[in-house]
Amino acid sequence: MFKRIAKFIVAVIVIASGFAVPVQLFGSFTPPITSAQQFFEYVYGEEYQGGEEEAYLKLVSSTSQQQSNNVGGANGGNLANTTATSTIPQAARGPTIPSEKGYLVQEIGDQLYAVSDGSYNAMFMVTDEGVVAIDAPPTLGDKYLKAIAEVTDKPISHVIYSHAHLDHIGAAGIFPKNATYIAQQETANELQRAMSVATNKSAVPPVPTVLFPKNMTLQLGNQTLQLDYHGNNHLPGNIFIYAPNQRVLMLVDIIFPGWVPFAYLAIAKDTAGFIGAHDTTLKNYDFDTIVGGHLTRIGTRADVEVQKEFVLDLERAAARANQNVSFMDIAARVGFDDPWLLFSEYINTINKQCEEEMLPKWETRLGGAQSFMSTHCIAMTQSGRVDPTVQALFQSIS
Ligand SMILES: [Zn+2]
Repeated sequence: MFKRIAKFIVAVIVIASGFAVPVQLFGSFTPPITSAQQFFEYVYGEEYQGGEEEAYLKLVSSTSQQQSNNVGGANGGNLANTTATSTIPQAARGPTIPSEKGYLVQEIGDQLYAVSDGSYNAMFMVTDEGVVAIDAPPTLGDKYLKAIAEVTDKPISHVIYSHAHLDHIGAAGIFPKNATYIAQQETANELQRAMSVATNKSAVPPVPTVLFPKNMTLQLGNQTLQLDYHGNNHLPGNIFIYAPNQRVLMLVDIIFPGWVPFAYLAIAKDTAGFIGAHDTTLKNYDFDTIVGGHLTRIGTRADVEVQKEFVLDLERAAARANQNVSFMDIAARVGFDDPWLLFSEYINTINKQCEEEMLPKWETRLGGAQSFMSTHCIAMTQSGRVDPTVQALFQSIS
């Protein structure tokens, strides 16, 4: 029973990653699994004859059911060996996704909607001039159009990309060709670069044509969206999308309400920018609701404050581990013959110390701590070792 629950949780994490999680992360987890059907077979131990989409929906609804059943449970354990299950804290629990539809659409402000499939979420706004769609996760795909049609018959007039990552915008081809596609300049540059080397250009999302370097205000009738670029964080071009009238902020792949971030600080390209984005969110925006792009639950200001506390705690633990572990002590034990073996031992020792400090504090507060803490420790300790700004930040907290 526990084994099956563990498989469900692994499944939802891998689904959340768009099947992009390296299988090594899961230890003895059976590779290679690259499709929802294979996941179904892995979880249920039987062959699945249906299509990719049905298998995916079944998994998502099963996993959210398992999450509900598992909330508040007392089964400690480590996902990496798939022999036990983790406890998912109450804070991580999200609404159930109706399995017959495969998505949940929620009005989160006046004519502003969040749509989720359980692993990814996007947002759209209905205006006098048409619908503004923000992002297009491939896991949602055509279901996104159904969610929009559920609340309005207006056409999609504008498309905004939060950033260039394909797991969030890869399905943008579903939108009308004559819509206005908007993004920060860096996002357009990356998509243009992809287009220039693609042999199948239709697989690349439409390259946006309305670009901005820093800020842009989209005013459509009485609806307003403020788009701001505060510099690199998760990825160059990742923007803050703010609906002032609704007091809603969308910031993708930075804030994960109720959960620790996706692995390696959500693969942040700029760790200092990732850290700084928490303060930018809290200081620059008057919001009650935040859409983070992943999982089911819509966030609040309190979620951002909790994640800021988590990141600051991680900085402290990483700074202390970097300081406490002596490279020469490891060298005395391992020798200098194989420098990569020496560095591997050094990094592992630092990481273990960081993880042992962080896990007891966070495994009961945020979902996924047991699965991804080790990756967060690696990201933060290594960034603190070599990135000038992160190392400078460590000076004031250790
Ligand atoms: Zn991303």
